[in-house]
Order: sequence, then C-alpha cells, then structure tokens
Amino acid sequence: MKIAFLDRDGTIISDYPDQEWRNKLEPEFLQGSMLALKKLTILGYRLIIVTNQGMINDGIITDEQFRRFHGKMLKELERQGIEILETFYCPHRIEENCTCKKPKPGMIKQALEKYPTIDLSESFMVGDSACDIGLAECFDMTVYGIGLQPNEISYAKYKWVASLAEAVEDIKE
Ligand SMILES: [Mg+2]
Ligand SMILES: [Zn+2]
Repeated sequence: MKIAFLDRDGTIISDYPDQEWRNKLEPEFLQGSMLALKKLTILGYRLIIVTNQGMINDGIITDEQFRRFHGKMLKELERQGIEILETFYCPHRIEENCTCKKPKPGMIKQALEKYPTIDLSESFMVGDSACDIGLAECFDMTVYGIGLQPNEISYAKYKWVASLAEAVEDIKE
C-alpha cells in the first residue's frame, strides 16, 4: 500500500498563529488542495494525516475542539469523494518529551503498526515545516516541503514546492 503522508495545517488547510486557533470553527482549504488530494487517490495513494497539535496540551484548544474541527474537514473531503484513511495527531507540548511529536517518528510508526502493508519506498510526505522534513528523514522517505527553501534543508530526498498541488504534479503513478 502506498501512502501520501500529509501535514494538515499549512498544507491542506490554512494555518494560523496558535492563539488564533481558539476561534477557528471552519476549515479553510488552501487553493487547489482538494483537487490535489483527489488526484492522489486516483493515482492509487491512500491518504494519512500526521499533525502536531501541541495547542491541545498547551490549553489553547481542547481535544474536543480539535476533533470537531477536524471532523468538519473530513466531512468536507468526503463530500468530494476523498477518503482520509487515518489521522494521527500529537497533542503534546515539547516539554512532555513524547515520541510522537514531529520530527519524532512516532506517528508514522503507529501507522506502520496499524497498516503493516504500507510500503514506505513508494510513499512520500508533504508538509510546510522543517519538522515534516525531519519526520520523512527518519524513514528515508521522499518529502515535499511547501515554501521551505532548499538551502535550509540538507536532506537529499527533499523537494521544494509552492503548494500541495505542485507536489502532486510531480508524483508519477
Ligand atoms: Mg504545517
Ligand atoms: Zn506527542
């Protein structure tokens, strides 16, 4: 099974400064991101979201708030015929020293445990933060970085793109 591992905020939907997330009720899809997800599905990729949500244990949003907001996003995608196989999220603060906060490998490890047929050599990651690149690097996996300058990243399997849509254009079947 080949997987597109996707960051959520700043990759599929808009991201905001932490404090502003308090008031966000509706996901705002980034230009072209839905179509890009659809194309990935057509290319035979299953979609897994891996997202850091330290805001939860920071007390900015509650777990329930996260789930409600995320559920709205999933529903919207479903309406477009796009299925997210699984979402893994890390609610922890840095100080908690968990094993799942990107760039730590925990969330992809969880994915591999739950779906042993995942083939990482055929999979890739897309994200807009250095931690997304670091996560992919843990697994020697191709990674597309949205807006992250190549000279800031020293990982050989890193590719710069301007958007999720642009990453998907680069993906071959
Ligand atoms: Mg992000
Ligand atoms: Zn964690």
